[in-house]
Amino acid sequence: MIVTITPKAPESTQTTVLAAAVSAGLAARTLDDGHGGILIGIDGSLPSDVLTLPGVGAVHVSHKPYMLASREGRPHAPSVVKVGNVRIGAGRPVMMAGPCAVEGRAGLLATAHAVKAAGADILRGGAFKPRTSPYAFQGLGEDGLKHLAEARAETGLPIVTEVMEPDQVELVAAYADMLQIGSRNMANFPLLRRAGASGKPVLLKRGFSATVEEWLMSAEYLLASGNPNVVLCERGIRSFDPALRFTLDLNAVPLAKELTHLPVVVDPSHGTGKRSLVKHMAMAGLAAGADGLIIEVHPEPERAKCDAAQTITPEDLAAITRAGRSLHDALLNLESVDDVNAENPVEMLSA
Ligand code: PEP
Ligand code: MN
Repeated sequence: MIVTITPKAPESTQTTVLAAAVSAGLAARTLDDGHGGILIGIDGSLPSDVLTLPGVGAVHVSHKPYMLASREGRPHAPSVVKVGNVRIGAGRPVMMAGPCAVEGRAGLLATAHAVKAAGADILRGGAFKPRTSPYAFQGLGEDGLKHLAEARAETGLPIVTEVMEPDQVELVAAYADMLQIGSRNMANFPLLRRAGASGKPVLLKRGFSATVEEWLMSAEYLLASGNPNVVLCERGIRSFDPALRFTLDLNAVPLAKELTHLPVVVDPSHGTGKRSLVKHMAMAGLAAGADGLIIEVHPEPERAKCDAAQTITPEDLAAITRAGRSLHDALLNLESVDDVNAENPVEMLSA
């Protein structure tokens, strides 16, 4: 059951609802509803006398299994996630860019300056790498995190970097502005719980064999662990067709935005696995309504130690950023038509 508590409700209402859940043996978790009220997700149903207390707003008895992530609880307040001073989900598309893996200090600093000049808002780079082969470069570990922190100090760009194990969360969170949970770890529930408790914003990549509902349930783990700052990332799924490394599922972008209040970004690098396709799918991701992009960039893409085939140059990133901003402006017209239709049908008719 999802129960919303209105902003002007007496404090006792929320306490009584939560106490009623406890005495019924039901778990209850709360989330800010974005309008000064509170959304409560309860694993079951409460008696009706509690639900008529002053200040109880909407009550949803039938709903999606992801109660806190669900759009139902915050229908008019999409979440905005702050990473350093960058706001994801606030309208302007956010560009995250950098190498697949941090390969060394000098190279990372050069790449960080280059992506900043190309319009990036956030620097990406893996220090702990989930590689398919145990013989492939596994990342620089804590040294990589130190290089990322130095790159942030030099450029002012906040950093997003992957955490792979529950016991690494504190270490990575000590350096990162945003924790990335990779595709292969989307359903690592102990990791989700620890990342949820870390207090850092989390970029949750979709498992490449995960359904949209499973992805949103993983987001629910983070929210239920007390972390409201979750950004979803569509990064491609496995299809029957081996033509490309993955198939970027762009249906999932507007769908996820209908189902949840969380921001959604698109990764056209992993989503294609092919450098020449990245710019096209970057634009397609924005056209599908993404709140931003995450793109692998290296000054010499062919020489990248990891994911070279899908890595682009800073010059290509600059072109994507420029075109992406114009595309976003063009799309605003489309969105305003949708909003007016949905929220104000009568005015539309009389206009
Ligand atoms: C990455 O971002 O470099 C990465 C490993 O991504 P994914 O988890 O989507 O494969
Ligand atoms: Mn990669």
